[in-house]
Amino acid sequence: MKPIVAFPFRHHGELVSPDAKKMLLDAGFELVCNDTGRRLTVEEQKEMIRDAFAVVSGTEQYDEDMLSAAPNLKVVIRFGVGTDNFDLAAMKRRGIAVGVISNNNCVAEFAVTLILGVIKNIRLFDQTVREGGWARYTMHELKSKTVGIVGFGRIGKRLAQLLQGFDVEMLTYDPYVKEEEAAALNVKPVSLETLLAESDVVSLHIPATPQTRHLINKDTIAMMKDGAYLVNTSRGALIHEPSLVEALQSGKLAGAALDVYEREPVTEDLALGKLDNTLLAPHVAALSVETNYNAGITSAESIIRVFHGGTPLYPVQ
Ligand code: NAD
Repeated sequence: MKPIVAFPFRHHGELVSPDAKKMLLDAGFELVCNDTGRRLTVEEQKEMIRDAFAVVSGTEQYDEDMLSAAPNLKVVIRFGVGTDNFDLAAMKRRGIAVGVISNNNCVAEFAVTLILGVIKNIRLFDQTVREGGWARYTMHELKSKTVGIVGFGRIGKRLAQLLQGFDVEMLTYDPYVKEEEAAALNVKPVSLETLLAESDVVSLHIPATPQTRHLINKDTIAMMKDGAYLVNTSRGALIHEPSLVEALQSGKLAGAALDVYEREPVTEDLALGKLDNTLLAPHVAALSVETNYNAGITSAESIIRVFHGGTPLYPVQ
């Protein structure tokens, strides 16, 4: 029996390239895919991964209950970065290797897009012209501003690289920051309090964990500079949304640009969607043609490496 790679996530057909699938087939794997066009039920997911050696996952859950359905599972590759849908401790106990893919450039480029878009009122300009209007608001320039990068991992560092040409001051808060890596990118490591107090733009690049949940709340927003902007391309759980809405309504914050929300997908009653000073995207920061292609190849390569006794290309544990 050939070792099985399961692709239980809904959009695998659009996202995983034929080249990546061919790599796995050529390496002797059998592929089992979710062709329903919808998210699988828990029972369907269990059935699909039952005999799998490897899983390429989306945002579906892999907890103790799910993992117990797959006794042969040796590696799970997240077709993305966030692993908040994984019980990493349970995976470790079961000896399951976990890997992610690298989409740092795509997300960092999108963070730059959101930063520029929100400080330059892009949404309102587009809207006024479409409506046959001519509302010419004054915008801000990024030059000489201070950008606070919360989390100096793959995406935070790539953002710092991309911002080099804008003549900005850059601060970062990350308990695990390597001083020399920050210095090489002209970034100053500081405490969270200092970052919030001194940044004109705060951009979030940390994982959602019990420790980081609602990191941005009424109290931390109060520490931010008056008229600052907040950008979140990480996870919605990092922000207490009602506090953000209040700060945007009162003018404490000048604007927010968000790709992620506390509840996804959002619904029509999203309070943030009723405000003029928000720029909103539907969790797309990593969705590029280039990233999808590379993600497929990375997933295939990682699985083949684990099959031969190695580790995933971007291991999580
Ligand atoms: P990474 O693991 O490379 O970096 C995360 C960094 O956060 C690490 O350097 C870590 O030390 C730091 N960190 C952890 N806890 C922290 C805390 N409490 N305070 C400050 N820093 C802390 O991850 P990455 O690839 O840079 O991705 C960052 C986040 O972006 C991911 O966790 C994911 O949730 C999110 N993401 C979103 C999208 C999207 O589509 N919007 C796509 C990819 C990734």
